[in-house]
Amino acid sequence: MDRLDDLRQEIDGVDGQILDALARRRQLAARVIAAKDERGGPLRDALREERLLATLITLGRDKGLDSHFVTRVFHEIIDDSVRSQQLHLMPEYAEAELKTVAFQGIEGAYSELAGRRFFAASVDRSVFAGFSTFEQVVEAVEDGTADFGMLPVENTTAGSINDVYDLLSCAQLSLVGEEVLRVEHCLLAVDDVPLTSLRRVLSHPQALAQCMKFLAKLPGCEAQPYTDTAMAVRLVKEHQDPTWAAIASEDAGRRYGLRILRRNVEDQQHNYTRFVVVARSPLKVDQRIPCKTSVVMTTSHEEGSLLHALSILHEYTINLTKLESRPIPGMPFQYLFYIDFEGNTADARIQEALGRLRTATTSLKVLGSYPSRHRAKTPPRVQALVSEPPAAPEPPPEPEAPDTPKVSYRLASRQHHPEDTVIDVRGVKIGGAQFVVIGGPCAVESREQIFQCARAVKESGGAMLRGGCFKPRTSPYSFQGLGFDALEMLAAAGREYDLPIVTEVLSPQDVETVARLADVLQVGARNMQNFSLLAEAGRVNRPVLLKRGMMSTMDEFLNAAEYILDRGNHQVILCERGIRTFETATRSTLDLGSIPLLKRLTHLPIMVDPSHAAGRRDLVIPLALASHAVGPHGLIVEIHPDPEKALSDGLQALRFSDFSELLARIYRR
Ligand code: PEP
Ligand code: MN
Repeated sequence: MDRLDDLRQEIDGVDGQILDALARRRQLAARVIAAKDERGGPLRDALREERLLATLITLGRDKGLDSHFVTRVFHEIIDDSVRSQQLHLMPEYAEAELKTVAFQGIEGAYSELAGRRFFAASVDRSVFAGFSTFEQVVEAVEDGTADFGMLPVENTTAGSINDVYDLLSCAQLSLVGEEVLRVEHCLLAVDDVPLTSLRRVLSHPQALAQCMKFLAKLPGCEAQPYTDTAMAVRLVKEHQDPTWAAIASEDAGRRYGLRILRRNVEDQQHNYTRFVVVARSPLKVDQRIPCKTSVVMTTSHEEGSLLHALSILHEYTINLTKLESRPIPGMPFQYLFYIDFEGNTADARIQEALGRLRTATTSLKVLGSYPSRHRAKTPPRVQALVSEPPAAPEPPPEPEAPDTPKVSYRLASRQHHPEDTVIDVRGVKIGGAQFVVIGGPCAVESREQIFQCARAVKESGGAMLRGGCFKPRTSPYSFQGLGFDALEMLAAAGREYDLPIVTEVLSPQDVETVARLADVLQVGARNMQNFSLLAEAGRVNRPVLLKRGMMSTMDEFLNAAEYILDRGNHQVILCERGIRTFETATRSTLDLGSIPLLKRLTHLPIMVDPSHAAGRRDLVIPLALASHAVGPHGLIVEIHPDPEKALSDGLQALRFSDFSELLARIYRR
């Protein structure tokens, strides 16, 4: 046996130990459930989970494992524990005899994948039965041919699946569960052919709708709707025509033996489908399990009747997660309303609210209460290791005194909007009490470089990742950025390390495309008064990080923000990055007085970029710390794995260790 075989054998042994440990952990978790049952405590103990993760991160570090890796692995493990605890409280799922699960389509359809995921704990005792239509799925459950049915209700790209909503209103079934599936479509064909030779792409109309932009780029190729994604795969296989392709899951492609021509052909990376699980009788969900309830109702055809009904839910502080309206068949312009909200019909408060709702509606059918598939992940608490919790929020500063001169901007002013605006970027809140640090390279230079930076940002406790893809350079001969390829790399790094991403957009034509992948659009200092760019940025639903122009006054800065706000985009983050003065010893002069001033003039969040202000590494940390002291909502800082080799702004890039040290100092305060 050679050395490689030895090593592989050793790895197999370690993998076996990991499995043993996981199985042992599950058994212990089961005993914890029993103990919790006796005490009747809550299902999850957030504080314990946070402490557990913090300890594991420290232990992992000592063993050379990075915190992101440890966090990811233990998120899965904790999630598994929570799932099994839920199952324990719901013996209907865990202990059911052999059961049949109906879905629309054939083997390999997304509905089947969702069913397998939902019934994962008892998949060996489940039979999955495909039916041609959603109606047949409903009928099969109603007449007892199947015990459960999986029905897709909405997709995050293509919207609600109306046929299913219409069926749910008249079906004699209850909702007993939900499942959310990330839908990653593949383009599949019998041979490895170039995309340009394809003449026909078959798939379910929903799947085609989710890949519309990709399909538009295939010249001379016709998109043909077909009953189901997996059936499209089967047909392409049977047909054996290399100019035909199907759009379906990788799993379906594998089952029917097709080649993957391209992965992730969906137009939006966050492409999820939500399924509901239906059964003949309702489920009683233990009140310790986070739960959702779905109802369908009609209101009288009078002014204000829907508002009145919804205000009852508001009165009971019930959080709505979905509101959908569908026309009532045979009654033109009258609607059924589907509502999902957080809560359990077993809870007296929810029962009372539903009782009140009955009096405010003309019909109300409770479709069921079921465990919510959305489980909040335990925060990794990397910051907790190096910092105290952030200070309590300061009260918003007094607005300008009434005798201050009149300003020409309106939407950006504090008078218009006295409360601070807080912008939520995939869970990172900018403008609130949290101090947010964005880190990343000036420019994305390679996949490896941006992944290294993302890891350093995550490890140090940064909240977001920056990286330029289109660089505004003084000289046309300098590196201009890797464009859309860079954006793909940046998005992939953001996904891998769970960091929202920010990148600069240079031209109005690119705004929409960049907005599809970037979580925040940056408008650079040189473009602060590029009014057509501001107008485009105002038309998309993405936060905009607006840098102060190098020669701009406060009034000009806030009027630039006003252009974006006026077009309808209310999510503007201002960024002070230094202005040009007679001083040439620093790249710009950081105007820190602007921060407390802006906090008086505007409700918008404010960040500071010490990197472009300093232009030299040794000044970045002092300027960052000084910035922190004057009260902005965060910092954006350039870092690089090897600043000497950086293709742009290497002189001002912090090394990873300096960045980590900076964050430790900031959060320790
Ligand atoms: C940048 O952030 O990469 C940048 C070019 O900044 P600024 O527009 O502030 O010069
Ligand atoms: Mn830069």
